Amino acid sequence: MSIVNVLKGFYEILKAMAVTLKYFFTKPLTVQYPKEKIRLYPRFRGRHELQRRPDGLELCVGCGLCAAICPARAIYVEAAENTDDARYSATERYARLYEINYTRCIFCGFCEEACPTGALKLGHEFALARASRGDLVMGKETLLQPATPHAIILED
Ligand code: SF4
Ligand code: SF4
Repeated sequence: MSIVNVLKGFYEILKAMAVTLKYFFTKPLTVQYPKEKIRLYPRFRGRHELQRRPDGLELCVGCGLCAAICPARAIYVEAAENTDDARYSATERYARLYEINYTRCIFCGFCEEACPTGALKLGHEFALARASRGDLVMGKETLLQPATPHAIILED
């Protein structure tokens, strides 16, 4: 090994150490989640939330437009008629079955835009990891629950 190669190697090590030292004293980009909250912009698209009217009735009327427009075929809706004894929405029909498959959803937001009643909103919940694929198919009982994500919402 020539002295030139040794000096070159030493120079490369010094360069690498300089990069390490430069970043050693700067503020880290990583976030200590969940000890530290994640910073999100208002337009961040997380888990869907089905909305209710102020009187508690569901805004979803089971029209299926969200399912029809979904490019990933992630939504499944089955409508049924409200009765006087069992009323879920203010109109004739409601979504008897409403499911979103999060193994397919690409969070494009088309479903939210297509919904004529404003029932479907993409919220800020991002903690969607589940132990099994089956748990990633979420039904009405989950989607009707407003989530409280561990996040700070920034200015847009
Ligand atoms: S966000 Fe896009 S992919 Fe996900 S359910 Fe809605 S339309 Fe389908
Ligand atoms: S969420 Fe909106 S678009 Fe989808 S079925 Fe309900 S009312 Fe129709």
